Amino acid sequence: MEVWAEKILTGINKKNPLIVEAGRGIDSEVKNINQEHRHHPADPLPDKEHTHEYDPHIWVDPLLASLLARAIFTSLSQTDPPSSDFYRKNAELLFKKFNELDLQIKQSLSGCRQHTLVFGGHFAFGHFVKRYNLEFIPAYRGFSPNSEPSARQLAYLIKTVKEKNIKYIYYEELLSPKLAYMLSKETGCALLLLHAAHNVGREEIKKNITYFDIMTGNIENLKKGLECGNN
Ligand SMILES: [Zn+2]
Repeated sequence: MEVWAEKILTGINKKNPLIVEAGRGIDSEVKNINQEHRHHPADPLPDKEHTHEYDPHIWVDPLLASLLARAIFTSLSQTDPPSSDFYRKNAELLFKKFNELDLQIKQSLSGCRQHTLVFGGHFAFGHFVKRYNLEFIPAYRGFSPNSEPSARQLAYLIKTVKEKNIKYIYYEELLSPKLAYMLSKETGCALLLLHAAHNVGREEIKKNITYFDIMTGNIENLKKGLECGNN
């Protein structure tokens, strides 16, 4: 998926670098999810640019992320058998954290007034909304941050916000939130961050921000935006 990955691979001087195709084992599961997405209610009409070939944002679903971790763990253990107990111990802690996160999301998102996630960014939460039974209306129909929002999609988004009396629009961490600002002005909605955990920046690394911190922040903003529990 990442264009820089090829360059890194050719630049590695080590004799036998360990290269793990972490997503390999979950290919079929991901494809099934995409098949179902064809009939996603958030799709007003099939869009030419909206290809559904492959949604690479597997990690936003903690249970799929856990499968990625499992593939990495298996490769490490096979490559370095003397340390396999060490890998297993850590991997099991990690699997447990993914499961706990999944439960926490399910609990947090039960009893919400809204079930539609209106997102002023690209199509990064397909696997997440599938797992947690939410509807998702992104401004950009494509998976790539370079895809362009269509006028029809934006009109549909604004109409849905008004019809469902939605009070919050989400913006993403990578793109400039310009479009999200425009949508919030147009609809009177407030903005909340939904972080797709593509990456962390220098500042976040310094603060030891992990995937789980990012997802915990997302849960807080989802509870607020979807009007769950006492929020
Ligand atoms: Zn993305």
